[in-house]
Amino acid sequence: MKTLKVYGQVIDNESRCIHYHSTRDIISLKFRCCDKYYPCYKCHDEFEDHPIAVWGRAEFDEHAILCGACKCELTIHEYMNAERCPYCTAEFNPGCATHYHFYFDVKAQD
Ligand SMILES: [Zn+2]
Ligand SMILES: [Zn+2]
Ligand SMILES: [Zn+2]
Repeated sequence: MKTLKVYGQVIDNESRCIHYHSTRDIISLKFRCCDKYYPCYKCHDEFEDHPIAVWGRAEFDEHAILCGACKCELTIHEYMNAERCPYCTAEFNPGCATHYHFYFDVKAQD
């Protein structure tokens, strides 16, 4: 199994970071702009000098979410529709939904 590197201010082996580190903050996101996993957009902005490029709707079947508990990759679509990891059943933080717009194109469709 390949090991995916998570960049940023990671503080433990389930990819919590200095910004978000509750029990359920276990996922990392691959950023479309640099093809790197970061635990959150703040980590991205501290390490990169370019703006975040969000994933477009047509790309929601890309594997761009990494579960920090089992290290499995989920598609964006899978992640948005899951309350917990489909592979290891670890719970995700429901509060992350309020941050989708930092990562994904979730503007209402016309
Ligand atoms: Zn980037
Ligand atoms: Zn962070
Ligand atoms: Zn998992």
